[in-house]
Amino acid sequence: MATTDDSVNGMTEHCEDCGLDTLHEVSVQLRTESLKEENAQFSREPYRVAECQRCGNRTSQRMNNA
Ligand SMILES: [Zn+2]
Repeated sequence: MATTDDSVNGMTEHCEDCGLDTLHEVSVQLRTESLKEENAQFSREPYRVAECQRCGNRTSQRMNNA
């Protein structure tokens, strides 16, 4: 594993828009799945968000795949 000074919090992943493996900045967001406010606090799910550093395309993936 090589690290470089200019690396962001990134991982090389496949970007469908680019059609390439590109550097992605990865973060985790809590998202509310329900549109109903009363349920919101029960339905927050962590999503892993990866943003392509080449084209800016964002992909998110639910982390709880149980
Ligand atoms: Zn891309």
